[in-house]
Parts: sequence; structure tokens; C-alpha cells
Amino acid sequence: MAKTPITVAEGDGIGPEIMKATLHILDAAGAQIEIHRVDIGEKLYHQGFQNGMDPKMWDVIRSTKAFLKAPITTPQGGGFKSLNVTIRTTLGLYANVRPCVSYFPFVATKHPEMDVVIVRENEEDLYSGIEYRQTPDVCSSIKLISRAGSEKIIRYAFDYAKRHGRKKVTLFMKDNIMKFSDGLFHKIFDEIAQEYPDILNEHWIVDIGAAKLADTPEVFDVIVMPNLYGDILSDVAAQIAGSVGLAGSANIGEKGAMFEAIHGSAPRRAGQNVANPSGLLLAAVQMLDHIGQPDVASKIHNAWLKTLEEGIHTYDIFKEGTSKKKVGTQEFGDAVIKNLGKKPEQLKPAVYGKEKGHLVHKHVPTNPDRKLIGVDVYIYFRGQMTEFFSKISHINVASLRLRMITNRGVRVWPGGQPETFCIEQWRCRFFSDDLRTVVQDDLIKILHAFDHVKMDVIRSEFLYLFDGKPGYSSAEG
Ligand code: NAD
Repeated sequence: MAKTPITVAEGDGIGPEIMKATLHILDAAGAQIEIHRVDIGEKLYHQGFQNGMDPKMWDVIRSTKAFLKAPITTPQGGGFKSLNVTIRTTLGLYANVRPCVSYFPFVATKHPEMDVVIVRENEEDLYSGIEYRQTPDVCSSIKLISRAGSEKIIRYAFDYAKRHGRKKVTLFMKDNIMKFSDGLFHKIFDEIAQEYPDILNEHWIVDIGAAKLADTPEVFDVIVMPNLYGDILSDVAAQIAGSVGLAGSANIGEKGAMFEAIHGSAPRRAGQNVANPSGLLLAAVQMLDHIGQPDVASKIHNAWLKTLEEGIHTYDIFKEGTSKKKVGTQEFGDAVIKNLGKKPEQLKPAVYGKEKGHLVHKHVPTNPDRKLIGVDVYIYFRGQMTEFFSKISHINVASLRLRMITNRGVRVWPGGQPETFCIEQWRCRFFSDDLRTVVQDDLIKILHAFDHVKMDVIRSEFLYLFDGKPGYSSAEG
């Protein structure tokens, strides 16, 4: 079998130790990989590379099939960019896949039956990094959800379930509040679920879903979520399964993939041969499956399960009474190597290699009738509502009239309640009486009109009807 080129980064803190143990096991198991090493992390940050990597590294990553990455240390202080976010977004690694499994009775957990895979959208949502300081004292982040991005991750989740013999895909979202962004994610989930009639589907509002996940994780199978919920809940899931030290994760894209442990570089444990290499090892197992070496993946995973069953544990999962022998990083790796070829007796054996095929992303853009009918103009103004209203109430252009003023999404005019707390960002909504189509030029004239009365416009959003339905939220109050 030809060797598959992979990129390896040893990272910082405990990174080099757990990477050494992991690669040693891969080698002993017969993984056919050709290693290309790159330097990333703390040292590079200090050399002045803002995101912890030398741009020359892209060529190495591009020339290999996968990137196995140990954790890095993010330096304290401002001005540094996240290396992980840079790699995920630059390479288009849209799916973050995190199996969270309990290994009861060998690793203590309150949830002995837990076997959940979290599939987290990795590129959009509040992580698209579109943020503004709009006024001296108001900042805003844009939560971006696209049909194309949502289709990719949701189809990936169903496809993952199918390939791994899983029965159900659950959606977590909050479309009772975010009717447009999470609403779109939910709608696409319902559409794609129809393509997988053999897989059950269900949805939960994220708050109650999270509570249920923490209480009875065994009722879940695969859970798909937008980025932020997935970021938070995949850590919760890994922790309640037993330990964050035991979970690996895959970041999958169409043109590349990155595999890593979910924990950080644990600097206090560095250089002592005590760290648990399991998270990185399980990430490497996901990598072997991904690059078409499922037999080696199964062999290593089963040897690792057998080692857990034997009670050979690193300090983080060692428990008097359950564990038999406390070992260091290297000794744990050696124990796994000794067990290569064996299967666990009590824990469920791992089987990789189900028919994969190539996941086809079908994105058909929708084409509704789109009608421009008005504009929301955001103004920076420090003062009372009455004073604000008197300065702007006369503004109108063509058929466009002021229809509503809101503050933090709450309607303060017409109507409004004296208790409503107002900040220095005001939204003024304009449209015509009969919601007739307007031209962009009239909307721009509205912005000019604010300028004439010396009001600072800090943002504007054009209002569209899509097939006659508003493409903007209405205000509370
Ligand atoms: P951490 O995950 O490094 O450590 C949290 C706790 O878990 C510590 O008590 C640590 O000793 C323990 N721990 C973690 N991994 C372990 C292992 N494999 N074996 C045994 N014990 C383990 O989180 P932190 O302390 O918040 O972060 C340390 C550094 O790691 C920071 O600079 C942070 O930015 C970075 N970090 C990097 C990544 C990454 O590269 N993907 C992820 C998270 C944090």
C-alpha cells in the first residue's frame, strides 16, 4: 500500500510527548503514512506570526491528505489570532466531528451508556468574525447562517449517521428566538432529513436540549448544531462522558482535514511524561479512517479499549479501586502497542470501514421573488427618545415614511413604554404605505437626510419581501 502523506505538528506544552506516543502506536500498528513536520504555536507567535504559523506552511498542508495537530499554547495578551480558526476557515473545514463516549466501568462517569457524536458547523454563525464597534459603547457581532453552509453540515451529519450505523440525528437550535438564522438551519434540517428515511430525526431548542444532554445523554445519537452551540456543548459532552483528555476531534473539509485532541496544551503537565495521549490517539484513529486505512484504525482503537479495560491508566483517569496501574505517557503508549491485535471484552469493539463513497454536496440556490420595500437606519444618538424623535420625525423621501423606532429591538415609537431602557443605538424603519417597491436611490437619499440633520448613521439594512414574506424581524413591544 502506498504511504499517504500527512502533516504533523507537535505543538506546545504536552504536545510533543503525546504526539510521540501517538506516532509510535501508529507505526507499530502498520499505518501507511509519510510524515511532513511543521512548526506551529507559541514559538511562531513570539516570532511575530500573528496566528501562530508561518504562511509557508500552507504549501506543506496542501500537499498532504490530512493534518494531525497537537495542542498549542496561545500566548497571553492581545493581538494574537486563533490558529485553529485560521486553519479551519482558510481550508474550509466545515465539519467538526467529536465522538463523546463513556468507558464505564473503566473510567468513572455518571453516564455509563453515553455514546454521542456531536457534529458542529465550523465556519459560520457568530464565528464568521464579522464584528463592529458601532458607537463608543455599543458592539455587535453578526450571526451569519447560509443555506449552502447549513446544507453541507446537515447532510454531513446524516451521512455520518448512515455510514456509522447510527439510528438518529438530532438538531439543536433556537429558532423560537432567532427565527431567520436558526430558522433557516432548522428548515434545511427538515428538508435534508427527508433524503434519509432510514434515520430518525428530531429537534430540540438548544437550552432544553443541552439540559437533556447533560442529564440523559444516552437518549442521543448524532447531534448537529450551529457553530456556537456546538462549541460549548461538545466540551460539555466530552467532559460528562468521563474526561476531556479522552476525546479526539476531526475537522473535515472538501479539500483537507485536520485531526486533534479536544484538550489544550496543559503547560503545567509538560515535560513530565504524565499526560494522557488518548485524545490525540483517537483523533489519529479518525484520521486513519478518513485517509482510507480503516483496518489500522480499528486495530488501534480496539487495542486502546483493551488497555483501558486492563486498568492501565494515566493520572487523569486513574481511580483507586477501578484502575490497576498508574502509568506515564510513554508507558501507556507501550501498553496499547502490546494490545495491538486484541479486542476489548466488555467495551464495544470499534469497527471502521463501512462503505464511504464521496459525500456529494448538492446546493441548489433558491430563487424567490425579491422586492425591496424599505430600509432600517441605525443612528448613534445620546439623549432622550423625545429629543431624538423631534430631530428625525420629518424625514421622508418619495413614498417612504418613518414607521417605527426601536432601541435594542424594542419598539419605542409609535407607542412605547416609559420603563424601556434605551442605549445610544437607535433603529429607524422606513417603508411606504402599501409596501410598494422602492429604488435603492431613495433609500440612499434617506441616509443623506439623516446627514442633513447631523445624525450619525452607523449602519443600514435594506428591507426585502421574499415571495411576499418579510425578510426582516418585526419589533417587540
Ligand atoms: P487544557 O485542556 O490544556 O487543560 C485543562 C486541564 O486538563 C488541566 O488541568 C490539564 O492538566 C488537564 N489536561 C488537559 N489535557 C490533558 C491530558 N492529555 N492529559 C492529562 N491532563 C490533561 O486547557 P487550558 O489550561 O485552559 O489551556 C492551556 C493552553 O492550551 C492555553 O494556552 C490554551 O489557549 C491552549 N488550548 C489549545 C487548544 C488547541 O490547540 N486545540 C485547545 C484548548 C486550549
